[in-house]
Amino acid sequence: MRRKTFIQQGSLLASGMLISPVLLNKKKNATSKKIMASFTPYVLSTWNVPRANEIAGAALDRGINALEAAVSGVAFEESNLLNTTVGNGGAPDRDGEVTLDACVMNHKGDCGAVLAVQNITHVAALAKDVMEKTPHVILAGEGAKKFALSQGYTPEDLLSPQSKKAWKKWLEKGNYQPEINVENHDTIGMLCSDQNGHLSGVCTTSGLAYKMKGRVGDSPIIGSGLFIDNNIGGAVATGLGEEVIKTVGSFLIVELMRQGKSPQEACEEAIGRIIEKQSGKPDFHVAYIATNKKGEIGSYSIHQGFSYSFYKKNINQNIISKSIY
Ligand code: ASP
Repeated sequence: MRRKTFIQQGSLLASGMLISPVLLNKKKNATSKKIMASFTPYVLSTWNVPRANEIAGAALDRGINALEAAVSGVAFEESNLLNTTVGNGGAPDRDGEVTLDACVMNHKGDCGAVLAVQNITHVAALAKDVMEKTPHVILAGEGAKKFALSQGYTPEDLLSPQSKKAWKKWLEKGNYQPEINVENHDTIGMLCSDQNGHLSGVCTTSGLAYKMKGRVGDSPIIGSGLFIDNNIGGAVATGLGEEVIKTVGSFLIVELMRQGKSPQEACEEAIGRIIEKQSGKPDFHVAYIATNKKGEIGSYSIHQGFSYSFYKKNINQNIISKSIY
């Protein structure tokens, strides 16, 4: 699979980036001199998702706000039938049903989430609609689908022939344990910073392949799969959701940054919190990406094999993450 070929194309962010304001408009009238600052937008996503990153980045460069940009970026992968970890074509649960999870959070701290939704491809957009058009933060299952239909989303059969074939093969043994390896952890988490310097994020997934019916991981849980504090920064997770939830991983990273840690240090400490509860090297995978208000970025994972995508000023890179093992 293309996104699993982790080719390091650059090392742009080795030491983090400082986004400096550019002066855009200077009114000539000396008495009412008004200067508008514009920040250089950037996009940071889990895994190798060049097209999604590019779509979001181009939107930001056009002046679209961070949340709209992130939702439009991940929508590409949600529609991509070859991507079996997100949206349409995602791997089903053990009963053969595709159930999707997603959440969004914006620079004001508003958030929305949908859990275990069937037949709706663009669950990140749906989570945004929950945030913007309902008095609630979370809608689950049938209720989320009913809301989607009321908003004009088209119901679709999300079990692609490819995912169905893989599920049938899995059924031959029907191993009840979640498949815990790097190949199954490809949730897309995307953090965007726009021209106003506002941060927003999105997390979208089909969850663990062949999960128990009704299982929901970290990805749609605000604070676990995603957290944004526009004064501090943002973080997003991928990997075994149960372990991320137990340590409230994304919130933890933002709080560590609040205490003065860099995004890299905060990601490393959050992975450390998971590891310290294990006896020995875990056989599951978790990875985090994070950014702060200075535009510095960080990432860390338990095992090798995690990479992230970074877009800024028309340059789109896939960068291999540091890992503890
Ligand atoms: N975090 C997702 C979940 O636990 C899985 C993944 O990232 O692949 O549902």
